[in-house]
Amino acid sequence: MVTDQSERMQREFPHVPERISGLVDLAYNLWWSWNPAVKMVFKQLNSRAWIESIHNPVKMLKELPEETLINASKNPRYLRHYDIVMSRFRRELHQKNSWFTEHFSYSNHRSPIAYFSAEYGLQHSLPFYAGGLGFLAGDHLKECSDLGVPLFAVGFMYSEGYLHQHIGSDGWQENIQEVLNRDAAPITRVMYNHDNQLVVRVPFIDPPIYVTVWKVQVGNISLYLLDTDIIENDPVNRAITHRLYTGDREQRLKQEIVLGIGGNYVLDILGIRPSVIHLNEGHPAFALLERIRENVADNMSFEEASYRVRETTIFTTHTPVPAGHDAFPHSLMDKYFNHYYSLLGTDRDTILRLGHMPQDPEGLFNMTAFALQMSAFKNGVSEKHGEVSRQMWHPLWPEIPEEQIPIGHITNGVHVPTWLDPKMELLLNKYFSPSCPNWLDEHDSPRVWEMIDDIPDEELWAVHMQLKRKLVNRIREHKRRKWVGEGAEPINVISGGSLLDPNALTIGFARRFSSYKRADLIFQDIERLKRIVNDRWRPVQIIFAGKAHPADDAGKKILQNVYQYTHRQDFGGRIAFVEDYGEQLAQYLVHGVDVWLNTPIPPMEACGTSGMKASLNGVIHMSILDGWWIEGFNTKNGWAFGDTVPEHNRDRADAEQIYEILEREVVPLFYTNSDDGIPHMWVKKMKEAIKTNAPRFSARRMVKEYVSRGYVPALAFAEEKYKK
Ligand SMILES: *Cc1c(COP(=O)(O)O)cnc(C)c1O
Repeated sequence: MVTDQSERMQREFPHVPERISGLVDLAYNLWWSWNPAVKMVFKQLNSRAWIESIHNPVKMLKELPEETLINASKNPRYLRHYDIVMSRFRRELHQKNSWFTEHFSYSNHRSPIAYFSAEYGLQHSLPFYAGGLGFLAGDHLKECSDLGVPLFAVGFMYSEGYLHQHIGSDGWQENIQEVLNRDAAPITRVMYNHDNQLVVRVPFIDPPIYVTVWKVQVGNISLYLLDTDIIENDPVNRAITHRLYTGDREQRLKQEIVLGIGGNYVLDILGIRPSVIHLNEGHPAFALLERIRENVADNMSFEEASYRVRETTIFTTHTPVPAGHDAFPHSLMDKYFNHYYSLLGTDRDTILRLGHMPQDPEGLFNMTAFALQMSAFKNGVSEKHGEVSRQMWHPLWPEIPEEQIPIGHITNGVHVPTWLDPKMELLLNKYFSPSCPNWLDEHDSPRVWEMIDDIPDEELWAVHMQLKRKLVNRIREHKRRKWVGEGAEPINVISGGSLLDPNALTIGFARRFSSYKRADLIFQDIERLKRIVNDRWRPVQIIFAGKAHPADDAGKKILQNVYQYTHRQDFGGRIAFVEDYGEQLAQYLVHGVDVWLNTPIPPMEACGTSGMKASLNGVIHMSILDGWWIEGFNTKNGWAFGDTVPEHNRDRADAEQIYEILEREVVPLFYTNSDDGIPHMWVKKMKEAIKTNAPRFSARRMVKEYVSRGYVPALAFAEEKYKK
C-alpha cells in the first residue's frame, strides 16, 4: 500500500508545538509561495532565519530552536494570524467549488488529467528548471490549482539541479554543481508500506531501470518527481536524473524513457489513472507508447488503442528550430525497446514510422514528430510560433496546404500571484478592491485592469522607485559580501553592479545566454552606446544576468563578451552583470528595472515570458517583434523594433533601431519630470503596459484556453468511451 507521509513529517518535526503544527503542512505546500500573507507566518517566526534559509520554510522549521517555536505558539498576535492563514489554507485544499467545477461537469473526475514535463520552475528551493519551459510548466500547475483543474503532474527530481554560475575574472562561466539537500527541500518521499520508499522498475525496458518517487504539493496539485539515484541502479543509471538535459544521447534517451514510460507507470501504481494527458514539449512523449501498451494489454487492438490515446492527448511544442527537437537512432531505440515493441500489438517498423520525419537523412525517431502524430490537440505557444510550427512540420502532412496543418496556438501566460510584486499588489488592492473586492480572482478580465487609471501617478511611481531601490540594494549588498568574505577582485565588484544608481534609467536583460537571444546586441556601436550610457544629466544603466548551457560554448563566449564590457572604465560601472540568474533574482529584476530589453533573432523566440512578468509590474517592454510581443504591442504599451528584415547585417540594423528608440523616446520620456518630480508621461506608459498585458498574458487566460479547447474535448471523448 502506498502511504501518506504526513505522519512521517510530524516525526521529523518533533519540536514544532501541536498548536502550530499546521506550519509543517504549510511548509510542504508551495501554495504559501504565491500568497504574500502566508509568507508572513513564516517570516514572523524569525525574520533573520527566514532570510538565512533563503525563503525555504522547510529548512527554516528544521533549524529553528524549539524555544522560538514555543514562544510563537503562546503569542496571541502570532496565533491570530496563524489561524487566519490556516483556515484559508484548509478552505483552499478542500474547495468543492472552483472555476472548473462551475463550468464543466464530468462524472469521471476520478480519472483526471496528467501533465508531463522535463522541468518545472516553481520556487528557487527546487532547482528543477533551466529556463522558460520550466517556468511555464510551474505557472501552469499553480494556475490549475487556483482554477481547480483536476490534474496530476510528473517530472524529475534532479539531484544536482541546474548549474550554479560563477564568472571568473576572465569572464568565462564556471559551472558549480551543488547537490540538492533533499531533506531541506519542500519535497516528500512517496512511501510504500509506511517505512520503505517506493521503488518501481520501468516496465518492460531492458536493461532494467529503477526509479523512486518524490512529491511536491503545489496547492491542490500533486507533482510526482522521479529519481533514479538509488542503490538498485548501476552508477550510470543512477546518474539519469542527476542533471537536466544531459548531452549524452543514450543517457538522454533513458531520461525520456524514465519520464514517459516510468512516469505513466508510477501514476498507475499510485492509483492515478488519467483519462487525458498533456505533454509539455516532446521529452515525455514515450508516455503515449505506455498508454498504448496498457490498452493493448486490456485486449484492445493496436489501431483502437492508438486512436484512443490520440484522442485523449494534448501536446504543446515550444521549439521553433528543427535542431532543438530530440531524435534518436533506431539502433538505440532497439537497444531499450526490443522487448517492448512486441507488447504494442504491432510490429517494430510501425512504431518507428510514427517518429519519422520525412526527408530526415538520418532516419531518426523524432520525439516531436511522434507526439504531433499521436495527439488530437497540438499547439505552439504564440500566434507566430503556431505559424512557424505549421511550416516546419508540414512534411508530416504533405497532402494538406500549410495553413490547414493541424497545429494551432495557445499563447503563454504567467501566473499573476507569483509574478506580481506584493507591494504592487497592495497598491492595486487599495484602488481596485472598493469596487471589485475579488479582483484578483478575476484578473484575466481586462475590465479589472481599467481601474489602474484610478491610481494617482505619484503612488505608482513611489512603489516602482521602492522596488528599484530594493533591486539595486540587493545587488550591491551581495557584492559587498563577496568583497568582504571572499576577497573578490575590485574589478569584479564593480562589474557585479556596485556602482549602480537607483535614480538612473535602468534597463534589464536577463535570460538564458543562447546565441539567438543576442545578449551582446546592444554593443554593436560602442561609441554611440557610450554616449547614451554616460550622459551626465540623463545616465542609462544596463543590468545583465543569465546562464549559458554548460555545453554551449557559443553562449559562454557571448557572456564573456558582455562581461568584458562591464569591466571597461569608459562605461563607468553603469553596465553590470549579476551572477547566478534564477527564480529569486528574476523576481527582483522584473519588478525593479525600468525597461525590459528583448533582442532574439525572429522567429526564434517561440513566445518569451519574462517580458510578461515585467509588464505586469509596470516595467516597460522594449522588444523586437517576435513571440508574444507581436500580439502584445499596441504602440502605446512599450517599444518595438525589427519589423523589417534588412538586406544584410541584421544585428547592426536592429541595434541602430534600439539606439534610435533610446535616444529619441525612452531617455527623454524617463527624464521629463513635472514640477512635482514625477515623470507623468512615463507613468502613463507604465499604466498602459500593466492594463493591456496583465489580463491577456496571464496563466489564467492560458489555462482556461487549454481547458476549454484541449482538456474538455479530450475528457468528453474519454467519458464517452468509459460509458461503453
Ligand atoms: C521567466 C523566466 C525565464 C524565461 O524567460 P524568457 O523571456 O522566456 O527567456 C527564464 N528564467 C527565469 C529565472 C525566469 O523567471
